Amino acid sequence: AKRQGGGVIIRYSERSEPRQINRLTLESDLQRAIERGELRLHLQPQVDLDTGAMSGAEALLRWEHPRHGLVSPMQFIPLAEEVGLIIPMGRWVLETVATQLAHWQQQGLPVVPVALNISARQFLHAELVEDVRQILEGHGVAPSLLELELTESLMARNPEVAVQILRELKAMGLRLALDDFGTGYSSLAHLKRFPIDTLKIDQSFVRHVNEDGDDAAIINATIRMAHSLGLNVVAEGVEREDQLEHLKRQRCDYAQGYFFSRPLSLERFAARLAGDESG
Ligand code: C2E
Ligand code: CA
Ligand code: CA
Ligand code: CA
Repeated sequence: AKRQGGGVIIRYSERSEPRQINRLTLESDLQRAIERGELRLHLQPQVDLDTGAMSGAEALLRWEHPRHGLVSPMQFIPLAEEVGLIIPMGRWVLETVATQLAHWQQQGLPVVPVALNISARQFLHAELVEDVRQILEGHGVAPSLLELELTESLMARNPEVAVQILRELKAMGLRLALDDFGTGYSSLAHLKRFPIDTLKIDQSFVRHVNEDGDDAAIINATIRMAHSLGLNVVAEGVEREDQLEHLKRQRCDYAQGYFFSRPLSLERFAARLAGDESG
């Protein structure tokens, strides 16, 4: 995501050409995206490395722009955060996940916990805890089916307030994960202080784990430290078998990445839950 002048470079996939879109246009488009129903939610499976079974999923937001096609969340999340649209957008994600979980449970599918990404502004928004409670209750979804992924930089902004919010979410029965661990403001003090359950190793360390001794050392130490603190570890961005083998040898608990599955549409994810591997 590069910015040049007043424009934003949109480059979603390797296949698509980078395009420059006027930032103001994108901003006003984004405002209408929710009402127009242009947001989509994809779910990426997480795998239990002991059993190979799907243990959970991460919800990843997608925006199907009517003229520009798929816009990457790396582009529109920072913009939504900046202009405050992240609040209604985050609520839409929560509502959509709860609706789907309730629906799949009614269909008798073996649902798994779903992790949502929470951005700084959304986390510090006064109504987050109440919104979560109301949405879960409204759909009759167990709080243990929801995990919130938070970053350290978000919590470092205001640690006292962060601890308070995390305790309330924890008391409600939600799971909490620390996302992108090892990037940014990593501090061991956070791990001790914040009531989190899971640590997600950032994909930048996983990428070169078998070529770069430093990355391997960081991963190995992170797993050991997390386990001694009673935390589960999820490795993200696993694309190859050799990465998976390294993580297994180090007793990493869960993994997520293209090696197992790309993020899937809700329809394809439901097929996967139903046990249809072709889905
Ligand atoms: P993240 O939370 O670190 O999510 C992981 C990103 O890695 C996702 O990119 C995912 O599609 C991608 N990924 C998964 N497996 C692999 C792999 O094996 N290799 C590679 N190279 N990439 C992989 P995505 O979906 O483009 O999302 C980018 C970021 O946008 C996320 O990073 C997250 O910070 C943010 N985001 C996405 N959805 C939401 C949302 O609903 N709310 C908020 N606040 N942020 C979101
Ligand atoms: Ca995440
Ligand atoms: Ca990450
Ligand atoms: Ca294990």
